[in-house]
Amino acid sequence: MDGYWRMSYMVLARKFRSQTFDEVIGQGPITTTLRHAIEQDRVHHGYLFTGTRGVGKTSMARILAKALNCLSSEGPTATPCNTCESCVAVARGDDIDVVEIDAASNTGVDNIRELRSNAVYRPARARFKIYIIDEVHMLSTGAFNALLKTLEEPPDHVKFIFATTEAQKVPATIMSRVQRFDFKSILPGEITEQLAMICREEKVDAEEAALKRLARLANGSMRDALSLLDQVLSMAGKKVSADIVNELFPAAHDELFAALIDKLAASDARGALEIADQSVGQGYALDYWCTLFINQVRDLMMMRVCGAETDLADAPAGLRDRLAEQSRQFDAGAFVYMITVLEELRRSVKSSGSGRALVDAAIIRLAEASKFSSIESLLQCVDGAAAPGGGVSRRPVAAPKSAPRVKKNAPPVVTAEDEARPDERPSRPTRGSAGGPGTPVRTPSAAPAAVQQEPVSASIGRRMTQADLKAAHAEPLVKAAIDVLGGQVVHVHRDDSAAKPPETAAIDD
Ligand SMILES: [Zn+2]
Repeated sequence: MDGYWRMSYMVLARKFRSQTFDEVIGQGPITTTLRHAIEQDRVHHGYLFTGTRGVGKTSMARILAKALNCLSSEGPTATPCNTCESCVAVARGDDIDVVEIDAASNTGVDNIRELRSNAVYRPARARFKIYIIDEVHMLSTGAFNALLKTLEEPPDHVKFIFATTEAQKVPATIMSRVQRFDFKSILPGEITEQLAMICREEKVDAEEAALKRLARLANGSMRDALSLLDQVLSMAGKKVSADIVNELFPAAHDELFAALIDKLAASDARGALEIADQSVGQGYALDYWCTLFINQVRDLMMMRVCGAETDLADAPAGLRDRLAEQSRQFDAGAFVYMITVLEELRRSVKSSGSGRALVDAAIIRLAEASKFSSIESLLQCVDGAAAPGGGVSRRPVAAPKSAPRVKKNAPPVVTAEDEARPDERPSRPTRGSAGGPGTPVRTPSAAPAAVQQEPVSASIGRRMTQADLKAAHAEPLVKAAIDVLGGQVVHVHRDDSAAKPPETAAIDD
């Protein structure tokens, strides 16, 4: 190990905490708004900073506090000096007028009562008494109520800055009395740049690929990025290579899930199982692992339905392009199906003694599912459009559990829901149907559009005879279903009202 640790060491996150509005990374609109508020003397009495950890909420709160109280200036200033007594004490976090409270460890009503009785006194040396309450959502209901009274009629010299990672847990009564700022996750490019700057300052020789990978792993959190860099430096000294970073930090769970989904798309059950093994091996509780996986599939689904750029997908910035591409490999129904399977898995692993086997079984189920296309494309391939099983579609289609896709020659599992109610056929041609009204037999490719939710048993009028059975087997659609799906005819319903009544079949298991 070289000399890195010989110097008196302060963790990078503290050493490089931003001290001015200019230094804050990735929160442009918020710094601009706050700066303007200060310059125009329109500073609100309460702010709520929300966003994931390590995106600069506390740093911003301290900078705002310094800006309001800097002693080098006549009044609040957008450019605090960072050298006066007040600025220095605020930066250290022990100023007498700027009180930082960690709500996670001071949740009670007593803590807030103390704050209230204290707030009535004027600040000791600066302009404002500023309360920075971190993780404010942790306060008890009583504490929130006590706080509310002060927020409703705050003394002129009091300002509140709340920070939280979970804004939805902050009561609406509080929310409506503060200005809310949503801090964004920091883009990987911005993190990489900052890491490069820090490495230069620290005289560390770092490969760009290594920094990019750290930025990716930090997932939008500058603080996490700096902790990761700290870790690398403690191992690598002054030389940071991509090899060292990769050795220290194995693939993140979302990268592994992305790889796993690629294998599923390729119907590669073996590959999928191997990656699942690596991923589960990272030590997650199985149900939590399922939750992470579900969240990732959800992102893909949202990107598929709402477009790759949608804000509704919570995809980590560094992985977004890859996920966008993946989202196009499946149709929305496939993602619905995956989520259904994974949620079922999540519930069952919690109560099962053989959770790992269930995980593997579900992986195989998903890999297999993508081999089989929808009934639609299946029938299209019967129709001669493509060869069955030859990668008809990489898009497994969501299906209710009662109607799983099956392999050729597999046991019969086609259920009634897969077949249209026969008596609807003549009168209601379906989307894409080749036949007009009165055409008794649909083309196979038109079949799926007519799929009804109502079980065909509801329309069964009488017992099946040998003649019915024979006629049913002659029906092209039924033949196709039997050939490809391995179903069997169990009920036949004769539709006497049709002009040219065919024998039609319901397939059931
Ligand atoms: Zn100052």
